[in-house]
Amino acid sequence: MPITAQQLLCELIALPSVNPAFLPGRAELTGEQRVADFLAFTADRAGLELEWQEVLPGRSNLLVRLMPAGGKVRRRILLAPHMDTVGVDSEARFKPVVKAGRLHGRGACDTKGSIAAYLAALLELAANGPRPRETEIILTALVDEENNQSGSRALVKRGLQADLAIVGEPTRLKVITAHKGDLWLRLTTHGKSAHGSKPHLGKNAVHAMARVVEELETNYAATLKRRTHPLLGHATVNVGFIAGGRQPNIVPDRCEILIDRRTLPGETDAAVMAELRALLRNLGVDADLTDTKNAPCPALETDPNLPLVRQLTRCAGQRRALGVDYFSDAAVLANGGIPSVLLGPGDIAQAHTADEWVELAQLERLTRLLVKFLRDQP
Ligand SMILES: [Zn+2]
Repeated sequence: MPITAQQLLCELIALPSVNPAFLPGRAELTGEQRVADFLAFTADRAGLELEWQEVLPGRSNLLVRLMPAGGKVRRRILLAPHMDTVGVDSEARFKPVVKAGRLHGRGACDTKGSIAAYLAALLELAANGPRPRETEIILTALVDEENNQSGSRALVKRGLQADLAIVGEPTRLKVITAHKGDLWLRLTTHGKSAHGSKPHLGKNAVHAMARVVEELETNYAATLKRRTHPLLGHATVNVGFIAGGRQPNIVPDRCEILIDRRTLPGETDAAVMAELRALLRNLGVDADLTDTKNAPCPALETDPNLPLVRQLTRCAGQRRALGVDYFSDAAVLANGGIPSVLLGPGDIAQAHTADEWVELAQLERLTRLLVKFLRDQP
């Protein structure tokens, strides 16, 4: 009997893999290597082929391959969860707890639950077959999804191609073919400082910014509400941070905001920047606008009618195409030419919360669903 998804998930939760960006200097809790080593050990014992892909110092993607029975690879399916998690409020979160049909612990749904179900399905095929004749299945356990998606970016950069990637985000076992993109911007207004008793001699950068914020949160937000996508609703804007000025008696010469702009398929980063620059020109405000992300985070839009996507959707007992708001590795892989969807146990509402959990029944259902889907491949 291969190890079950529940047993795998308990092991995975007990191996801390917080993204180093969230807990700098805490090597005993951060990085994906402990998780990757455990997966490698388990997969190797089952006779699966391993490949390491170093992405950052001490942080490697792990590729676990189930070769086709016929030996010749004509098609390829990736199972692509991520191994890193967000931080914790207490180290007790690394102790898996089963209670009332749920498994609690950091990473339970985001996305160690997916890793567990995906690997359990591969182990089942490896142990009991039958394996597809010409379809290669690769579990790609990725690093750094929660920060820069360096793992998925490295995977596509090194040229791996596939007919489908199933990305392990918590979707309550729904196949998701679309999600929004994400653009983070810094906007800085410039003024001229002067003594607080003579404000007419200066130019107030905070006042200018007040007009910008007002415009963004009212008229611009209203414009975005009218820009809609059938699976994703409308684009959004949020001013999440503001800082400017030093003290009451100085006219501020600088004010800065940070903007989170969620984009729809078809909206490019360049077009959004141009649109915001035009908005600033119309307001007559002198400001700089810069993109603060290290790499682009475009929206995901995979054709729900691709044969493999339809087949997976049927296996999930789902009738219509669905989208979600949050960004994921799927958009990175899709941008690299791999048709990608999301499918995982658990709910995004539990991801990133202190008490993260997943329903055990969903873990089981996903494992069975995947075994069926993969066995149906040629
Ligand atoms: Zn997450």
